[in-house]
Amino acid sequence: MIPATASVPSSLRPTESVVPVQAITEGLVPYGTWAGMPAVIIRLQGCPVACPWCDQPNLWLMPTHDDQVGEEELEQPGGANGWRWLNTTRLLALVESLQAHAHVLITGGEPCLWDLRDLTRALLNRGSTCQVETSGVAPLQIDPDCWLTLSPKHNQPGGMQVLPGAYRRANEIVLCVGGDEDGRWIDRAAKERSCCEVFICPRDDQPEARAACWRLARSRSCRISLPMVYPAPEVAA
Ligand code: SF4
Repeated sequence: MIPATASVPSSLRPTESVVPVQAITEGLVPYGTWAGMPAVIIRLQGCPVACPWCDQPNLWLMPTHDDQVGEEELEQPGGANGWRWLNTTRLLALVESLQAHAHVLITGGEPCLWDLRDLTRALLNRGSTCQVETSGVAPLQIDPDCWLTLSPKHNQPGGMQVLPGAYRRANEIVLCVGGDEDGRWIDRAAKERSCCEVFICPRDDQPEARAACWRLARSRSCRISLPMVYPAPEVAA
């Protein structure tokens, strides 16, 4: 009989995966099916895609295991100027400390650079809906019950390709549109998806991007999704 006091040596215990967190904040899901839903947003460091219009180039830098920021910096508006490696247990505690924890959005950077199986399963087990937003350039390491938002970025300076499996797994596709030439990516999404909806959004505030969105939505019968922004601080108490 195994004694009740038997324990596994620490060297043999399974270790939790860790992820480099740049921000953990509350906000609204900005695009797509869940747009407007209050959520805990976990932003992970690192992105090799290098989109020229990216508004968060500070997230491109791949993290190392040193130079970590303090945990309190992760809750700053806009996140930390750096990252902190956190395991699933600690991340769950931080998620639960925030009110909007019924829905958790994991984004980046490119979150699928990291093994998210532990974290996404733990979030689902605690009763949150769990959404992962990816550009589709890295193999998916997420729980099968996660909501997957594919936001494909094609032909970007980082030279990364969208993996075909990402289209088949996606629960929705959100495409950034800069001009009419982006219609080819809408057509590809429509061809390669399983049965999910395709949303398009202007990739910046330029009138040309908005006008192209309208023309492409009209000709292809897809939906425009404009970014939902976090409430102004004076109403966000
Ligand atoms: S995939 Fe997202 S985070 Fe990465 S460069 Fe493009 S817009 Fe920025």
